Formats: sequence, structure tokens, C-alpha cells
Amino acid sequence: MSYPIETIRKDFPILSRSVNGRPLVYLDNAATTQTPTQVVEAMNDVYYNYNSNIHRGVHTLSNICTEAFENARTKVASFIHAEKTEEIIFTHGSTDSVNIIAESFGATFLNAGDEILVSGMEHHSNIVPWQILQDRHQIVLKVIPILDDGSLNMSEFRKLLTPKVKLIAITHISNVLGTINPVESIIAAAHQKDIPVMVDGAQAIQHLTIDVQQLDCDFYVFSGHKIYGPTGIGVLYGKSKWLNKMQPIHGGGEMIKKVTFEKTTYNDLPYKFEPGTPNYVAAIGLGAAIDYIQKIGNQQIQAHEEDVFNYAKEKLASIEDLIFYGTATHHTSLISFLLKGIHPFDTGTLLDKMGIAVRTGHHCAEPLMDHFQIPGTVRASFAMYNTREEIDALHAGLLKVKQLFG
Ligand code: PLP
Repeated sequence: MSYPIETIRKDFPILSRSVNGRPLVYLDNAATTQTPTQVVEAMNDVYYNYNSNIHRGVHTLSNICTEAFENARTKVASFIHAEKTEEIIFTHGSTDSVNIIAESFGATFLNAGDEILVSGMEHHSNIVPWQILQDRHQIVLKVIPILDDGSLNMSEFRKLLTPKVKLIAITHISNVLGTINPVESIIAAAHQKDIPVMVDGAQAIQHLTIDVQQLDCDFYVFSGHKIYGPTGIGVLYGKSKWLNKMQPIHGGGEMIKKVTFEKTTYNDLPYKFEPGTPNYVAAIGLGAAIDYIQKIGNQQIQAHEEDVFNYAKEKLASIEDLIFYGTATHHTSLISFLLKGIHPFDTGTLLDKMGIAVRTGHHCAEPLMDHFQIPGTVRASFAMYNTREEIDALHAGLLKVKQLFG
């Protein structure tokens, strides 16, 4: 069966709008993906037909809503192949998930002098929470360096793997370089030394099939808005053997079993980490996004994205003075580049005038920019609905930018 690109594009109404008088070419999918009608309708359905606070009610609407929310959790668990549904904790997004892990793991397991390993290509949200721990628990942050093609320096990684390391926090895919990191090997090496690994899956969830049991990662985090779901919802997957031991860091309703002024006991997983009213509408929307992806098929989406990516790589390589950043062999469908002598903001602004949305700047990875000694890049990132024709538009747009800059 051929890839149903026409149908898919129709499911995303925003793709048929124009920007600055030109048809929109949306190539900013690493920042956020667009949302199909099916997801918007699933959330409308909550508000129009069964909105009610979950878990605490005996009435019909509350029961329907609770069931839909828990059903979304089951969908997420099955989507990433978690062993147990209780290992799926709903958060506000990847950033929130990393912060919860950092604070809770730090409070439960870390002591002064313990080391955490991150890599040189992390998003700020997998750097700063650990730096906050540096101040709070005097832990030491060490960085796995990267090579010039944008891959990890694995021999340096092995040298850094000393008994002082208590956790590795690493991105699955770089949001700037597109590098797919060898997380399986990293996890295997770490586990030989009993070191747990947290994987930041914010970029990978959109492009790879994730099997947390096969990866054997201890924690995996991602955001709903990067897989065609709504904003304000994310996932923290953790092996129950860790989560059961970890202290909750936010208190309130729902995360307790019994409260007295003398002593409070905490709820079981996953509720121990979900205080207050969760964003159940967005969780239900995320469940609908997973349904949508699964209806098309992960393999089909990946094959399509690879085709668009390869086409883009070839087309852009033909542009003189275009420098690629991130040329590692294992690479996802995004391209970071600069046009020699032209500031990325200028390139992005001119492309926008032509209706083409790309992201420019440091992409929340300033240490990586420092490594390459550049102020930022232009990033075009592709999703299930992008087409070769849109790549042609990007190519033509970049030639125009070059022409305007003489
Ligand atoms: N990690 C990576 C690799 C990302 O690319 C992003 C967002 O772009 C994040 C974390 C943070 O995601 P969010 O802003 O949804 O919390």
C-alpha cells in the first residue's frame, strides 16, 4: 500500500493555511509537531461530553473520564513497550520529567561527590536540572565529549564510567545534530557497573520505535506535543524498582494514601508522582495521537521520513557554501546547517517571508554551539506529513536567500 500522504495532510488542517501570502511549508517539527483533527476532536469530546475531575468521583461523568485517562496511560505503556502501566507517569513534558527525576533521584540516592554523566549534545533541559543538583547535593556533572561529525566519543565515555558515576542522563537523538546515539551500548556498559541510565527521548519518540524493555533503560522521558499530541502533557517512564524507592517531590491530593498532621503515607505508583488534578484532557489527546500514529504505522512513517530526509540532504548538498552540522551515520530526519557568511536569523527570517517555517538559533543547546564555535544553526526538521515538494521549496528559498545576500 502506498503511503497515504494526501489523506494525512488533510488530517492536519493547519498545513493548508498560507503564511505571508505563500502556502505554509512547516519544517519545524523538532520544536513541535502539528496536531491532527482526530486529536483535537478527542479533546473536544472530553469538554463537550464527559468532562469531570478524575479518580475522586462516584458519578458517571467522573467514571467515564477516569477510564479514558487510564486508558491513555495503557496506550502509552503499550506504545513504548513498558512492562507495567504503573511505570508510566504523566507529567507536563520532557523538561518536567527530567526535573522530577533529577530532584527525586537526587534526594533519594545521591551524595556529595557522586557523579552524573551527560553528553556534550544535550538540550538545556537535560543539563540545568543536574546543575541545580550540583548546588543542592554537591554532585559533580561530567560531560561525554562529542566528535566533529556530531557522534559521541565512545572511548571517552568508557573512560568516564568510573565507580563514582551514579546516573547517566543522555539524549536518544540530538535536537540539533540529528545524531541517533547508541543508547543500547551505553545502557549495557552502564549496567555492567550497576549504573542506571535516563534517556531523553524528546526527539526520538517521533522518529523511532521505542521499546523500553529492549533498551533496558531505567528512565525514558518524552513530550506529547512532539508526537502530534497536545502541549502540556509528557511522560516519565521509570522502572518500578527505582520509582518505588524514590521520594515524591511534589505533595498534594491524589499522591497520598493517608494524611494526618503527624504522618502522611504516599500512594502507590504511578499516583505517588502525580499530585493534584493532572492534565487529563491532554493525556486523552496524547492517547488519540498514539492511535493516529499506529493507524498509519510506525514503519511506514519512518520510511517516508527517511525518503524526505535523503532527498533534502541531496538537494541541500548541491547548494554552494552550505555547511551541514551533524553528519553522523546514525541520523534522524532533521538537517542543521548554515549558509556561509549569512547569520541563521537572517536565513530564517527570509525563509519565513516565503512561507517556510524553520527554526534558527542555539536550539536550547548552547554548549553544543560553543563546541562548534557558532552562534546557532538553521534547522529543518521533517515529520510524517512533509513532502519532497516542500524540500524543493526550501531549496529554492535558500537559493533566493543567497542571491539576496549577494
Ligand atoms: N530534550 C530534547 C532533546 C528536546 O529537543 C526538547 C525540546 O525540544 C526537550 C528535551 C524539552 O522538551 P519540552 O520543551 O517539551 O519539555
